[in-house]
Amino acid sequence: MSHDKVEKWIRPEIRALSAYHVPEPGEMIKLDAMENPYHWPEDMVNEWFDVLKNVELNRYPDPSAKKLTEQLRKAMAVPEGADIILGNGSDELIQMIALALSGNRAGKECSMLSVDPGFVMYRMIATFAAMDYVGVPLNEDFSLNETAVLNAIELHQPAVVFIAYPNNPTGNLFDEYSIKRIVETAPGVVIVDEAYHAFADNSFMPLVNDYDNLLVMRTVSKMGLAGLRLGLLAGNPKWLHEFDKVRLPYNINILTQASAEFAMRHVAVLEQQTQQICTDREILFNQLKQIEGLHVFPSKANFILVRVAEGQADIIFNKLKELGVLIKNLNSAGGLLKDCLRITVGTPEENQKFMQAFKKTLS
Ligand SMILES: *Cc1c(COP(=O)(O)O)cnc(C)c1O
Repeated sequence: MSHDKVEKWIRPEIRALSAYHVPEPGEMIKLDAMENPYHWPEDMVNEWFDVLKNVELNRYPDPSAKKLTEQLRKAMAVPEGADIILGNGSDELIQMIALALSGNRAGKECSMLSVDPGFVMYRMIATFAAMDYVGVPLNEDFSLNETAVLNAIELHQPAVVFIAYPNNPTGNLFDEYSIKRIVETAPGVVIVDEAYHAFADNSFMPLVNDYDNLLVMRTVSKMGLAGLRLGLLAGNPKWLHEFDKVRLPYNINILTQASAEFAMRHVAVLEQQTQQICTDREILFNQLKQIEGLHVFPSKANFILVRVAEGQADIIFNKLKELGVLIKNLNSAGGLLKDCLRITVGTPEENQKFMQAFKKTLS
């Protein structure tokens, strides 16, 4: 096959992308991907195996995952009157939203708007779906620049606005009233992405019935079930009815349905783990704060963003790897993320090993 054919037919904006790169952790302490570091107690694992024994792998899963949907409605406190759709991870929900909204309206490409720095998948998926993407810069302290966002909304008339609450990779919660004004101003739908809800103490879920264009997205990934790939979108049934049409049949596989149903029956175990992570986040935050020359950003998520001395991020990141600790290096993203590193909160032992290694890289 000649290369020319690839060049001719693959969209230029896809050819220009580099594939999402995930480093091999090997034996390293893995503090790069916001995973919950804890497993389940042994008796719970055995009980789960018993559930899996009875799963009929020869059958297609329940296409609408009714039982799981009802459990999630309770576990996530989705208000009466709001609908829910499930995705193969919340990434798939972002993709479904983009697919349903993309294309031309009155000769103009539809756009997606979010903030920068923000969650990288918004921009990626906008590109996949051939939507224009608008990233509005945050203030220097990573707070929301309300005026800039409202002006950009007026100018670009985006079909969809994504706001991560708390934001990734910065970890902060944006001002609640600014987000309400964004919802009121946006001509299209606003998705408040609460991937880190388990670690934060505020949510837009109770407000989904107050607006006809506000939807709340959640995932079980950061709660401790990243391997299952399960996210949910809640809110106005009219929007969800349309988004559901681009969902592939059986997108939530039978093992995920059975395992997530089981996990939701034991949700207290996950809640205890996330509480532990919140406690350890504060300990880690205070320890990092004591390091001179380090800028530590407050976090309501299960990770902490730090800014190191100018030009040191790559060096520190690589030294940490040599010392057996994998974190996320955001330096190459540039802008406000220049010299920034993101550390996922692990177990107390992992956090201590990270702190020891980190201090070594600084000396
Ligand atoms: C991790 C993350 C997601 C993706 O979650 P999945 O359900 O694992 O696809 C979505 N939004 C934000 C802001 C995230 O950080």
